[in-house]
Amino acid sequence: MKLEKIVVASGNEGKIAEIKAIFKDVEIISMGELGFTGDIEETGTTFKENAYIKASYIAKTYNMPALSDDSGLCVDALGGAPGVYSARFSGEGAKANRTLLLKRMEHITDRRAHFESAVCLCMPNGKTYFGEGRTYGKILQEEIGTKGFGYDCLFFSNDLKKSFGLAEEDEKNAVSHRFRALQDLREKLK
Ligand code: IMP
Repeated sequence: MKLEKIVVASGNEGKIAEIKAIFKDVEIISMGELGFTGDIEETGTTFKENAYIKASYIAKTYNMPALSDDSGLCVDALGGAPGVYSARFSGEGAKANRTLLLKRMEHITDRRAHFESAVCLCMPNGKTYFGEGRTYGKILQEEIGTKGFGYDCLFFSNDLKKSFGLAEEDEKNAVSHRFRALQDLREKLK
C-alpha cells in the first residue's frame, strides 16, 4: 500500500522525530500541526490496546491515516514494570521516573530489561494494521549520556554495546524497538 501522508497520534517530540527518520518517504505530520491540543486517555492494559486507542481516535477525528506508537521500558526483575505505565511511573515526569527506577533497582543484580513498542496504523475506513518490536539491554547503575529521551540514559543497549544516552539518532534508530515495530508494520502493509 502506498501512503503519502500520515498524522502521528503522539505529542512526544522524541517519538515523532524517530518516526520521521524511519518513514523518510512519507509526509509525516503531527497532531499539533492539525490543531489537536487535547489528551487521549490511554486506558488500555497493553501497548497494542493503547496504540489502537490513539490511532483510531485521530483517524476518525481527522479522516486521515493515523499512526501511533505505544511503548515503554520493561524490567525483568520488576515483573515487566514500568511497562505500559513508563510515562507515568513516578507521576512527576521523565527525570523523576529515572530516579524512581534507580531506587527500585538499588539492590537488584539482575538488570535485564527491554524496550517494547506497538505501532498501529488506522485508516479512515477503519482498516487497522499493527507492528511490534523490542530491543534488549540492561539498566545502568547511573545515568550515562544526554541524548535521546525518557529512560534512554539508563539503558545499556546489547546491540550498540553502550547507553542509548550516548547513541546518535541514526545509531539508535537502527536497533530501536520503534524501528523494529515500524519495520514489522511495513512488512504487513506490503
Ligand atoms: P507513551 O507515550 O505512553 O507510549 O509513553 C512511552 C514512555 O515510555 C515514554 O514517555 C518513555 O518514558 C518510555 N519510552 C518509550 N520509548 C522510549 C525510548 O525510545 N527511549 C526512552 N524512553 C522510552
